[in-house]
Amino acid sequence: LEQRLRQSERLDSLGQLAGGIAHDFNNILAVISGYAELLSAELEDHSCRPDVQAIEQAAARGSGLTRQLLIFSRLEPSRPETLDLNVVAADMQRLLGRTLGEDIELSTVLTPHLPPITMDRSKLEQVLMNAVMNARAAMPSGGRLTIATAADLAADFVHLTITDTGCGMPPEVIKRAFEPFFTTKGRGKGTGLGLATAYGVVTDAGGTIALESQLGQGTTVLVRLPASHEASSAPAPAVRPASAAGT
Ligand code: ADP
Repeated sequence: LEQRLRQSERLDSLGQLAGGIAHDFNNILAVISGYAELLSAELEDHSCRPDVQAIEQAAARGSGLTRQLLIFSRLEPSRPETLDLNVVAADMQRLLGRTLGEDIELSTVLTPHLPPITMDRSKLEQVLMNAVMNARAAMPSGGRLTIATAADLAADFVHLTITDTGCGMPPEVIKRAFEPFFTTKGRGKGTGLGLATAYGVVTDAGGTIALESQLGQGTTVLVRLPASHEASSAPAPAVRPASAAGT
């Protein structure tokens, strides 16, 4: 236990450090993309315009990464709102389809009438986006990605599953996948922050996240989020052990 505590303290300070750096870098990147945008507008048909646009794109990628770090380090404030998971998934469908490209077939299976959840919408979107980017990386020569929603029987949790038909994960990768900075993608390609961030976001919201994977068959990411029953006048559900919310 002591070792786990020490590890979690170390991760906390690592996260704070990363978040502090990310915050400063974000400001620097904003200056770079601001000027690159101005330049690119001024250059019109000049032959070096593509170079400036490459700077813009690199700065945009950099901001994406720093945003990830900010969320991971929990320095990004949460703005919880009441959400319908189906609406969030449906609204992201086009963006996700474009991200996946033509070789990956996207199907979305939404179970109607889900109970609402309460969480920060952009963080939930980040969780979904991270899972989809991982799925894409796992299917370099195409495949199928299924995004599904459901509620558990007692309707106290809603489920979001992201299933791919990709390379799958060996047990030793599954074991470490949620560790911050753990990546198999090689330097400069993966940050190792996708699943660690998702873990933080989901557990902060009182939910759980798990992986199921078969080597060579594919992977499912299962996210369970607590339903918020504020709006309902139904009698309170039977008392459950605190561990039901997952830790
Ligand atoms: P990153 O994507 O930057 O490597 P993540 O935390 O998102 O960081 O993922 C950690 C590792 O877990 C990945 O490097 C990859 O090996 C593995 N992984 C995650 N999602 C999948 C998936 N859908 N299929 C196969 N492997 C996966």
